[in-house]
Amino acid sequence: MATITGNTAFGVLSVGGGGRAPPDAFAQAMAASAWWKGISHGHWWPRPVFLPPVILCDDPSYWCAGGGLGAGPRNAPGLARAAVLALPDSAREVCPRLLMLVADAPLAPHVWRVAEGGVALTPGTWVRRYAALPASAPLGTWVHEMAHLLLDWPDLPTSSCLMGSGARHGGGNDPSPPGAHLRFGAGWLREIPATAELLTGDLDTCEIATLTWRSQRIGFSRMAQGIAVDNLDVPGGPFSVVSVTDWKAPLLAYVFADPSCMTRATKRP
Ligand SMILES: [Zn+2]
Repeated sequence: MATITGNTAFGVLSVGGGGRAPPDAFAQAMAASAWWKGISHGHWWPRPVFLPPVILCDDPSYWCAGGGLGAGPRNAPGLARAAVLALPDSAREVCPRLLMLVADAPLAPHVWRVAEGGVALTPGTWVRRYAALPASAPLGTWVHEMAHLLLDWPDLPTSSCLMGSGARHGGGNDPSPPGAHLRFGAGWLREIPATAELLTGDLDTCEIATLTWRSQRIGFSRMAQGIAVDNLDVPGGPFSVVSVTDWKAPLLAYVFADPSCMTRATKRP
């Protein structure tokens, strides 16, 4: 995976219609951007470009068959197309190619392709992909869908990280970070050797301590609850979380005190 740095512009487009006002998504978009900057230790910050809200003739829920996932044209790909087509020329010129669509409607959060191949903003510049969110979507839903839209990260259904159940942690208001496998691959964690001398408290949140165990690359990183154990050859994880009570204890002694910990991290092919 390539290193992910700098900022990535994305459009925020609120959609109303049929007497329903477009929602104000400013605070959510800003919070989501700040969350990514923090979780990447300042390496990456998605930059919201707030577009003028559009008002369609129909209520946005007109396009919400199956939560927006139903058969076209009454689905969210059709809503995305109608919304982009409704942008005034001045907004088309500044509109990023990747769009977060927010509507006060029962949309199932998702990322997909704009109907009919997309919409040309200007000659040669197209909006082809979008994320759709209901106005009530919490932070975890925002940052999860941003990972799909802006980073092309896949769902990891068995993981407790952001790309799995972690998006819903704390009712979606306190999402879990992406797994160490993803953050390490993005270049957001500094690698240090997991030596016998390394103490649990020595490990900084922006570091990952690594060792090779049974021919597999194992990484240890800080989590709120303790130390996450990841297999850096396998997406997903963490495969174990060691809760830490003594931050002056050697990290490896702590990890190996529970024999199942490393087994869980290495049992996968
Ligand atoms: Zn997803």
